[in-house]
Amino acid sequence: REYADISLKDIDQVAKNSFPLCMRHLFDKLKEDHHLKHGGRMQLGLFLKGVGLNLEDALAFWRAEFSKKVGLEKFEKQYAYSIRHNYGKEGKRTDYTPYSCSKIISSTPGTGDHHGCPYRHFSEENLRAALDRMGVNSRAMEDVLDKARNRHYQLACTLTFEALHGVPCDAGINHPNQYFSDSKKILQ
Ligand code: SF4
Repeated sequence: REYADISLKDIDQVAKNSFPLCMRHLFDKLKEDHHLKHGGRMQLGLFLKGVGLNLEDALAFWRAEFSKKVGLEKFEKQYAYSIRHNYGKEGKRTDYTPYSCSKIISSTPGTGDHHGCPYRHFSEENLRAALDRMGVNSRAMEDVLDKARNRHYQLACTLTFEALHGVPCDAGINHPNQYFSDSKKILQ
C-alpha cells in the first residue's frame, strides 16, 4: 500500500491528529449530522480508502452514522452500493483514486455541502474558528489566514501542518493523503 493504514477502532483519534482540515471538517460534520451529501461522501470516502480503511470497515463506518439518520434499510438500499462502487466492487469496477488538493480546491460546493478546501471555501471567520479548534496557535494563525486570503491555499495548509506538528514540511502539501502519511510518520 502507498499510504499508512487506519483501523476503525482508532479512527476518531487519528482524524483528530492526522487528517487535514478538509477531511477533518467532513468527518466532524458526518458525526454531527449523521449524513453527508454526495460530494462529501466521495471526497471523504476516497480519502479513507486511500489511508487504508478496507471495504468492510468503510461500510461499518458509514453505516454507523447514516443508520442514525436514514435507518439501516435505507442505508443498505441507497448508500452501501456507492461505497462498494468506490472500492471498485460494483458497476464498471473502476478503481477510484483519492482526490488531490487541486481537484478539491477547484470543486464548487453548494449550500449544504461540506466538501471542498476550507482554506478556499470557508469564510475567514469560519476558517479562523476551525483552525482554532484544530489547535493552531495565534501566532501561526495570522500567517495561515494571510496565505488563504492571498489564495495560496496549499501553503496555508502547509503552515497549518507545520504549526500542529512542530516540524517543517519542505515538500509542501499537495494531497490530503500525503498530509496524512507525513503526519503519521512524525507522530508514530
Ligand atoms: Fe485538504 Fe489540500 Fe485543502 Fe489541505 S490544501 S485542506 S489537504 S484540499
